[in-house]
Amino acid sequence: MARPKCDKCGRELEETFLGKLMGTIMKVKGKTTAICRDCQKNIKPAKK
Ligand SMILES: [Zn+2]
Repeated sequence: MARPKCDKCGRELEETFLGKLMGTIMKVKGKTTAICRDCQKNIKPAKK
């Protein structure tokens, strides 16, 4: 199974040995966007 690539840095999302992705998959306007754990830290959702 192909691993999703981070939409920010282009790296493949890491998986734990349980097959769980170390990152997050978001759906934006019907498109699936993968964000790795590192980029997740840098992204602060604009909540104001
Ligand atoms: Zn990334």
